[in-house]
Formats: sequence, C-alpha cells, structure tokens
Amino acid sequence: MNVGFLGLGAMGMPMARNLQKANLLQAVWNRTNGKSAALAAELHCTAAATPAQLATQCEVMVICVSADVDVLDVVDALLPGIQPGALVIDCSTVSADTARTAAARLRSRQASFLDCPVSGGVEGAQKGTLAIMCGGSAEDFARAKPVLAAMGRTISLFGATGAGQATKATNQIMCAGIIRAVGEAMAFARAQQLPLEQVVETLGQGAGSSWYFVNRAPNMIRGSFPAGFRVRLHEKDLKICRDMAAASGVSLPVVDDVLREYAELIAEGYGDEDISAIYRLKWRLFAEAPFRNPPETEIFDLLRRARNVAIVGLSADRSRPSHGVARSLQKFGYRIIPVNPSAESILGEPCVPTLAAAVAALPAGERIDIVDVFRRPEHVSAIVDECIALHLPALWLQDGVIDEAAARRARTAGVFTVMDRCIFRDRAALPT
Ligand code: NAP
Repeated sequence: MNVGFLGLGAMGMPMARNLQKANLLQAVWNRTNGKSAALAAELHCTAAATPAQLATQCEVMVICVSADVDVLDVVDALLPGIQPGALVIDCSTVSADTARTAAARLRSRQASFLDCPVSGGVEGAQKGTLAIMCGGSAEDFARAKPVLAAMGRTISLFGATGAGQATKATNQIMCAGIIRAVGEAMAFARAQQLPLEQVVETLGQGAGSSWYFVNRAPNMIRGSFPAGFRVRLHEKDLKICRDMAAASGVSLPVVDDVLREYAELIAEGYGDEDISAIYRLKWRLFAEAPFRNPPETEIFDLLRRARNVAIVGLSADRSRPSHGVARSLQKFGYRIIPVNPSAESILGEPCVPTLAAAVAALPAGERIDIVDVFRRPEHVSAIVDECIALHLPALWLQDGVIDEAAARRARTAGVFTVMDRCIFRDRAALPT
C-alpha cells in the first residue's frame, strides 16, 4: 500500500516517520516545502511538489494540518490528482461538519474519507501510541487499519463520518477541565510550600491523578512550558466544542471558562506554549493576593519554640517603641540580639552590625529563631534578602515598616513572615 502524508508539523512529522518504519510511506508534502524536502531526504521517500502530485502516487493519504479551513484547502488541492478508490484519512482536529464536507468533496471523485483525530500529544505521535478516534464506513476503517496501527495503539470506529471528531471533542473538553484543575492544584500546593516533586510522585498514584498531572505538573514546577500541545491549538479545539454544544442549545461552563483563560494567555504572548501554561494564571492568583499573616496558632507555635530574637533597628533610646518591645521580650524569657551598627550594647546585650554578624556571634548549636524588624519600608527589602540568604526561619515586620512585596517574597522563600501589629507574648501565657 502506498501512503502519502500531508502536514509535517509537531504531530505530522513523527507520524510520518512511524509510517516509514512500517514500510508504508511513499511520499510527503508540506506547505513549507523545506520541511518535506528534509524529511524525504532523511526517510528516502518522495517530496511531492503539490498535494495533487502526491495524490497521483498514493492510494491512501493522511492529512494532519491545523484547522478546519486548512483541511478543506488540502482536500481541494488533492482533488485534481486523486484516483478513484483512494482513501483520505484526516488526523487533524476539526469539526464534525468539516469532516462531512471533506467526505462529500472526495465522494464526488469516487474517493473515501475517514475522520481520524488523534490524542496522546507529541509524545504519543513519536512513540506511535496515539489513541485514534475514527468516523466513516466499516469498510474504509478496515482498509485504514494497517496505516492507523503504524501511528497509534488504541484505534476505534465510533460511527459514521464526523463521529471521530465528536469523540475527539469529548476528549478536548476533559483535557480543558483537567489541565485547569492541575494548574490550580499545583499553584495551591506551591502556596502551601509543599515539596512539589514529592506531591507529584505521591498524588500521581492517587485517584485525582491523570496523564496531565503526571506529565505536565513537572512543567509547572519548573515554570517552563515548551510545546507540547499549544494553547492556540486547544483554544481552536474548544471553540469547536463550544459550537458543537451550541448546536444543542447548550453552553458548557468548563469550555467557556478555559476559553476565557486561554484568551488571556494568548493576549500575553503565551499562545505557543503548552497548555500547562494555564498554571501562570493560577499562580498569579496567589502571587497577587494581598499579604495575610499566618494563622494565630502557627504564630503561637513559633513563639513557643523561639529563644533568640535578633532585633534589626533596635534603638538605644528608651522612649522608642523598639526599645519597649525588646524589654518585653527579655521579660518573657527571650534572648535579644540587637542589630545596630551605631551602639555598643543595648539592654545589656552587645550590639552586632549586621544579621550575618549576629549569626556568627551565637554560641555553637544555637540559631536566630526570629528576626524582628524596626526599619523603614525602603530598608526592608534588603533585610528580607539577607534573611533568605542566611536561611533564617522567621521574620517579624513591625508596625510602620510594612512592605508587602518584600514580605511576600520572604514567604515564597519559606521564611515564616508575620506582619503588622502582632504583639509578642509571655511564653508561659501562650494559649495551647
Ligand atoms: P503544527 O505543529 O502547528 O503544524 C501544523 C501543520 O499544518 C504544519 O505542517 C503546517 O504547515 C500545516 N498547515 C497549516 N495550515 C495549512 C494550510 N492551509 N495548508 C497546508 N498546510 C497547512 O500543529 P500540530 O501540533 O502538528 O497539530 C496538527 C493537528 O493535530 C491539529 O489539528 C491539532 O489540533 C491536532 N493535534 C495536535 C496535538 C498536539 O499535541 N500538538 C495533539 C492531538 C492533535 P507549515 O509547516 O507550512 O506551517
């Protein structure tokens, strides 16, 4: 059987390679000719100059191009060369109506058509493990089977022309809901400061897992979303789903919501990234949320465990609020470490010029448990970075030195951050 392949994109290129491995590939064509020439040289097959020229050499033709109009353009361009009895297999994702239009145009030349959209992504195309959903006659399906088997693993006929595309649309609705849920869940997990690799490893075995979770959550952890299944292409598919549902008078909330989110991603220039880029929007929900203090119970926990409190900006002047707080801390049993380059000692404790010097000055085995900050907002950012660099566990930003962005950065780096008018308490009086 001589098979021709048209459309050597991210999917088509590896699919054509698999046809060649099965000794079926006769010729290839691509709109941008350079790609077909290179592949033909690699696979020792013909690079056709036009679809019609390819049609004269092949009994079976596989198309894999972008959208509805492209499939119909390629089918029209095949028609002048098509032989009676030829079979055209379209693996693009388009509407069921387009499949029926293509079938009718080919029927007028005594040729057959199968709509055979695929699922499994670029990985599935490379490994030859695609799921292939077919629509057309049982006879054409049987004829196509060896060709489809070279490219996919699960191959099923769902009914007359268009049924393959309807099945694929069903799949695309699921993908939309799942990738959105995975993005939201991973952003949540990150905000909870969970060890994300471990989350994927464990939940990947659980009931909430999915192909997208196992294979695309790692993109979210890395913050890089190489295509993949492009946002733009899934958007196109979801518009097909939306229009097919609208024909039944229905609008689907998952489809509508994800279309809105994809529009946002595309407008920001992320249309050619993998659909796991939806995570960008989900993380933004957390990143842009106004800062909130941790729950009181966690603050009390910290105060119960803490012993050494470095006070940045502690004043030697008894009338200053920092001095009052430091006195209370001593009374409550904490050791204070004044970080003040212009004083020798405050409240009986020797001063150190920087946080790094405070860490160095502590007896072996002890650590700074809390960094209490009494500096103006313009100084906070540098102090936060110092805490992060020194792996100091907790930061207490006192009333009057609020810098939300810096506090959020500390929290993201795992520095337990308390902001605002939070009063230290006597450890003995802390609620349990
Ligand atoms: P792609 O990498 O963007 O490649 C698109 C291919 O279509 C290119 O070869 C392009 O030619 C060709 N093309 C576009 N418009 C054309 C036209 N008017 N006439 C002739 N050729 C045209 O896309 P892809 O990822 O391979 O996807 C192809 C199809 O598979 C789409 O329908 C998509 O929805 C579906 N699909 C994709 C995935 C996935 O994970 N990527 C998974 C399942 C299904 P040029 O090289 O000249 O641009």
